[in-house]
Amino acid sequence: MRAFTEEQKIKILEDLVAIKSVNENEIEVATYLKKLFEEHGIEATIVPVTATRVNLVAEIGSGSPVLGISGHMDVVSPGDVSKWSTDPFVLTEKDGKLYGRGANDMKSGLAALAIAMIDIKENDSLQKGSIRFMATTGEEVGGAGAKKLYEEGYMNDVNTLIVAEPSQDVIVYSHKGSLNFKVTSKGKEAHSALPQLGYNAIDPLAEFITKVNAEVRDSNRSNEILGELVMNCTIIHGGQQVNSIPELATAEFNVRTIPEYDTEEVIEKFKQFAEELNNEGADIIVEVTMSLPSVFTDGKSNLVKTAQLLGEKYFNDKPELIGSPGVTDGSNLLRSKGDDFPFIMFGPGLTKMAHKVDEYVHRDVYLKFIDLYEELFLEFNK
Ligand SMILES: [Zn+2]
Repeated sequence: MRAFTEEQKIKILEDLVAIKSVNENEIEVATYLKKLFEEHGIEATIVPVTATRVNLVAEIGSGSPVLGISGHMDVVSPGDVSKWSTDPFVLTEKDGKLYGRGANDMKSGLAALAIAMIDIKENDSLQKGSIRFMATTGEEVGGAGAKKLYEEGYMNDVNTLIVAEPSQDVIVYSHKGSLNFKVTSKGKEAHSALPQLGYNAIDPLAEFITKVNAEVRDSNRSNEILGELVMNCTIIHGGQQVNSIPELATAEFNVRTIPEYDTEEVIEKFKQFAEELNNEGADIIVEVTMSLPSVFTDGKSNLVKTAQLLGEKYFNDKPELIGSPGVTDGSNLLRSKGDDFPFIMFGPGLTKMAHKVDEYVHRDVYLKFIDLYEELFLEFNK
């Protein structure tokens, strides 16, 4: 006996999309899911992250093995709403597609995980161990929710992790890390005709950028799946007026790291270059504004194989196994797991559709993923 009809499954996604959890307000999503779980006899706990932001953890079964299933509750901004063909917060069906902000990234994945787990509970089909549902806050900006779950020990006993980010046609088992820096150079203002009375903040920052571009990027290191580290200076500001010596200049950088050349080493290099310039009279401060390590697993687990077989069964096409340049909550959740840890990112929706105007998920893909997850979860707790 199925816990939900097809209409009810669509309604749950519709309700979730209607909640405007644009990098905040995840608490409403958490409250909705908590109620849904509790209606089906599953205890769910709200885990505070900040004064206003929360995670949700729900669990069925008991003891080991523990299968972790995870998704984030926030969505990115719809941007200019007039560019959308439909209201981004009203799930709208057209030609077999369900449109809405988060329909793809990743309220369909979140709903599919929850529904599959409830169905298993209702049918009492879990033979051993536990399934721990972990819905996170703030994945799209910094991953604070997943970090909190890791720090509070929710991952300690987890043996397998499935993250339901949109990737219906590929299975991701490793991904790059992501690191953001803000570099501030302080100078002293003066008239540009009398620069000797001041100190130009842009000059050392320009040197810094040139040095980082040349030396952080210069590496022979590469990961067999993820390729090379990628680094870019993406924002630069400085100066107020064309005839004044600038007293402040800032630059921001995003770095996509690999296990062979990861966050700690890059941070160390940034700090070292700043120190060298500071010894010559500059006043440069390096701030790390986000640090998510890379995730590397060998992809040889049964989880990967079974997910691939189920992908083929449900969608007639064997999903390719890949490493991804993008990050997931796996960066935080898997901080202390080894290379042989069974991890996949596999969920309804296409990766390339994430964050786009007119975001959608195919109705049948969403519905099929619920059944796929149910089979996959039970396979892991036999
Ligand atoms: Zn996402």
